[in-house]
Amino acid sequence: MEIYSLPELPYGYGDLAPAISEEQLTLHHSKHHAAYVKGANAILEKLETARKENAEIDAKALAKEFSFMLSGHLLHSLFWTNLAPAGKGGEAAGELKEMLEKEFGSLERFQKEFSQTATSCEGSGWAVLALDKISSKPIILQIEKHNVNLIPSLQILLALDVWEHAYYLDYKNDRAKFVENFWSVVNWNEVAKRV
Ligand code: MN
Repeated sequence: MEIYSLPELPYGYGDLAPAISEEQLTLHHSKHHAAYVKGANAILEKLETARKENAEIDAKALAKEFSFMLSGHLLHSLFWTNLAPAGKGGEAAGELKEMLEKEFGSLERFQKEFSQTATSCEGSGWAVLALDKISSKPIILQIEKHNVNLIPSLQILLALDVWEHAYYLDYKNDRAKFVENFWSVVNWNEVAKRV
C-alpha cells in the first residue's frame, strides 16, 4: 500500500555540491527519507489489517512511531524544496524580507540565530523557521528527532535537517560548517512562497 511516496528532488543529486555532496544527498534522499515513507505506509497497512481482523494493537507505540515516520517524511519534503543549487535560490525579498527584518532587526541577525539554533540542537533534530498565524510573527524552533507535534497555527517556511545522516559524510562532526554552507543553497524564492 503506497499512501505516501518519495518525492523527486527538483534538482540533480550532484547539484548542491559542494555544500552537500552527491553521495551525501543520494543517501539522504534515497535511503533515509525513503525509509520514513516506507515506515509510514507500513504502519497504515498494519492498522488496516488489525482493524479488518478486529485484532489488538499497541495504540500508543503505533501512534508515536507514526508521528515519527510521517513528520520525517513531511519535514524532508519541505527541506528538499527549500534548497536550490548555489546561485539559483534568489535572495530573501518582499514580504518575507520585511517580516524577518521587522522581527529580527536584520537578515544577518535572523541567519545568526537560526544557525545557532541548528548548531545547538541536541542529538538528532531540525531547525525550522515558522510563521505563527496567530501572532503573524516568524519564530525559530528546534525540533527533536522528527517528532514535531505539528501545531496547526505554525506554518513551516524554512527547514534544516541537522541529523548526522544529513552531513556526516561531508563534514564529519563539524555541524557548524554544514550549517554555514547550508545558507549557500537556500531557495529563498521557495521560502517566500510559503509566507
Ligand atoms: Mn534527514
